[in-house]
Amino acid sequence: MTSVPGIRPHGGVLVNRVLRGVAREGALEKAHELPRWMLAPVNVSDLELIAIGAVSPLNGFMGQADYESVVETMHLANGLVWTIPITLPVSKSFADEVELGQEIALYQPGEGTGHLLATMEVQEKYAYDKEREAREVYRTTEDKHPGVARVYAQEDVLLGGPITLLNRPLDQAFPKFRYDPIQTRRIFAGNGWRRVVGFQTRNPIHRAHEYIQKAALEIVDGLFLHPLVGETKKDDIPADVRMQSYQAILRDYYPADRVLLGVFPAAMRYAGPREAIFHALCRKNYGCTHFIVGRDHAGVRGYYGTYDAQLIFDEFEPAEIGVIPLFFEHAFYCKKCQSVVTAKTCPHGKEDWLFLSGTQVREMLSRGEAPPPEFTRPEVAKILIDGYKALRQGQEDE
Ligand SMILES: [Zn+2]
Repeated sequence: MTSVPGIRPHGGVLVNRVLRGVAREGALEKAHELPRWMLAPVNVSDLELIAIGAVSPLNGFMGQADYESVVETMHLANGLVWTIPITLPVSKSFADEVELGQEIALYQPGEGTGHLLATMEVQEKYAYDKEREAREVYRTTEDKHPGVARVYAQEDVLLGGPITLLNRPLDQAFPKFRYDPIQTRRIFAGNGWRRVVGFQTRNPIHRAHEYIQKAALEIVDGLFLHPLVGETKKDDIPADVRMQSYQAILRDYYPADRVLLGVFPAAMRYAGPREAIFHALCRKNYGCTHFIVGRDHAGVRGYYGTYDAQLIFDEFEPAEIGVIPLFFEHAFYCKKCQSVVTAKTCPHGKEDWLFLSGTQVREMLSRGEAPPPEFTRPEVAKILIDGYKALRQGQEDE
């Protein structure tokens, strides 16, 4: 076994279910004769996360004991903290065709008959209560919640069992920025970073985020900027535009030897507090010792309280999480302080604070208007304005 540098992975072992070499050749040949199941985008993301060890200790899609335990208690059946079900829903007719112990082949939609990704040994098939999952995991049963809507729309039977990845998913954007957890761990170790803070985002970096990231970087050795690039809501800013804006700001305003930009292939679930824990555990597997949790982390449209994603960490012993959460307030520019501040660090009031809501910023950018430089660096604003223009043109062409 190759050694795994850095912090102990969740559960102690960094999972690797990526098959290579001769073993892979053999498995590829055999896979074509197996019953095939076509995965939805979120399952493709989850499959890759499992294979590369980002969701260690999971080595496959969850069986019933883990699923029930995670939904009910936020722990795996063995007692390890885990907050988000990682499951494989299939149709009842497909489940009926498959026998326990049998292997199946998992495909991604693509040219012709699709793209073979992995094999899976089906150890369990079980029914589940979607409404209960919604209520426990998402804290709402409303189908207006995008994560809940996805659960309601998915198939009715769950298959559990270990997977083996044979091919990476198709159309992988940003290949240069795709690091598996073993790679980021080696990079961190190679850079001599003993303490690394992870930053999850699905948004552009405005001055407020820059402030938070740099405040965190002051107390650790390295910053792992890890934007999520799996499936998100349609109105989130497209990943390629975000990536351009990250590269621009890193080039001009961050020390290259203290920052790593990589993409996180996960899909968004918008599960708020539970997803904050999930994001932290995944980043521990990537080698982070610290993780930034902002206000309303992974939330959506007022479904969670402002501090819920921070408070949920208090429901666990710090050692069972094993990565240190760094909680931040909203940051903004204060005219009197003449710097970015938070309500914690500035004695002035709203009249001195430059505060724009996400909606306001989106509206400005789509009008072609740059927010004030104290809010968004001009280099970033320009990329976002161009991105919105391209987006609008794309929509008109449809
Ligand atoms: Zn102030």
